[in-house]
Amino acid sequence: MTWADLHLHTLYSDGTFTPKRLVDQAQKAGLACIAIVDHDTVSGIDEGITAGIDLEVEVIPGIELTSEYRGYEVHILGYGLDYNNRKLKEKLAFLKKRRLERIHEMLAKLRGIGKELSPESVFSIEHSGTLGRLHVARAMVQEGLAGSLSEVFGRYLGENGPAYVLGFKLTSPEAIALIKNSGGIPVLAHPCVIKQEDILFEIISSGIEGIEVFYPEHSNDQIADYTRIADKFNLLMTGGSDFHGDAKPNTKLGSLKIPYSLVEKIKEKLIHA
Ligand code: AMP
Ligand code: ZN
Ligand code: FE
Ligand code: FE
Repeated sequence: MTWADLHLHTLYSDGTFTPKRLVDQAQKAGLACIAIVDHDTVSGIDEGITAGIDLEVEVIPGIELTSEYRGYEVHILGYGLDYNNRKLKEKLAFLKKRRLERIHEMLAKLRGIGKELSPESVFSIEHSGTLGRLHVARAMVQEGLAGSLSEVFGRYLGENGPAYVLGFKLTSPEAIALIKNSGGIPVLAHPCVIKQEDILFEIISSGIEGIEVFYPEHSNDQIADYTRIADKFNLLMTGGSDFHGDAKPNTKLGSLKIPYSLVEKIKEKLIHA
């Protein structure tokens, strides 16, 4: 059997591996194909593809866009997009700036509840591109303001936490359109995060073409549910580990593999788009 993992982060967003190290480790973990899907950036893709050619790992260009829908944070994956598309790049440059402002907004909220964290401590967490909550969380642990990442997300930075900032600039339909207009396939990431069914179906009907059925946190029942939804709405099925390198040591490369036949279906759709 040939295996793939279509959800991997590098240090161009909040992972810790360079694209080259990611490809190297993926090959050692028995993966023939991976997709790099950093948060709101495509900066790691060229390096990943080059490493993939050397190491004979197929690297699919991708992205994980953060969007807002009715007050919730919704992640939209994009596969096979033209990552040099000018409009895409302009939008991503804007989102990167917005993510930086958001860091300062989260730090202000933390200060308001007596957790003083300097911007420098966040920026000194190794990264090369977009910044997010995981950088803040790691800095808090490093500075001794919290004992663990799960404590940070549980008490401060989770979606209902006192220091959480939504404020993303793309709505889910806009994120879906941005991916489609760049020649990519929009896929709803980790649908388990969306608790209300009506919202799930609204997002699907805004032009989603695939659903991330296989994800570490999905139970067998959820996998069955999302498989049924994929059948009903004629969606591609995808999956991946959401590996972040050492930033999330509990998620290992190779821990979630999907059959390559699912990748072939994605590629067929890309060719006929
Ligand atoms: P952001 O894009 O800044 O909203 O951050 C989202 C990222 O935060 C996710 O992709 C994860 O890397 C991380 N994250 C969210 N919730 C948790 C959690 N409970 N534990 C660890 N990391 C989390
Ligand atoms: Zn992340
Ligand atoms: Fe995500
Ligand atoms: Fe992710």
